Amino acid sequence: MSSTKRKMQRNESDSVFIEERNAYICKTCRRVTLIVHIHRGTTPFLIDCEACGESAQSFMYVLPPVLSLPQGFKALEPTKEWYSPIFGVSPVAYQHTLRNMKLSDGERKHVEMGGLLLRDRTDAKPIRKKIA
Ligand SMILES: [Zn+2]
Repeated sequence: MSSTKRKMQRNESDSVFIEERNAYICKTCRRVTLIVHIHRGTTPFLIDCEACGESAQSFMYVLPPVLSLPQGFKALEPTKEWYSPIFGVSPVAYQHTLRNMKLSDGERKHVEMGGLLLRDRTDAKPIRKKIA
């Protein structure tokens, strides 16, 4: 995030927001993967660890405070994001969108039922929750 953007956010209001985040822990290599939501939807209990590829287990959205600092704190930034490839796409067009993405049958069904996909963090705006 640029410093200009941060400055604008400070002026927006005095409210404090935290990003909608979850984390997954890998019991093999101990890596914690921090993930932000840019869309709402369902997510799996297990993902592939980004470091070693073994299974990493969900924190079930109960994060230690250090992993859910208010937006703008840079100590720990998510490396991944949950997104829906059909967010904002009309029902008529989304079949075409899904076909072009070459998803597996399982992934496609998951998305059609409101599931989210995982990708490396982009500059997409995260979902935020007001905490104060
Ligand atoms: Zn691992």
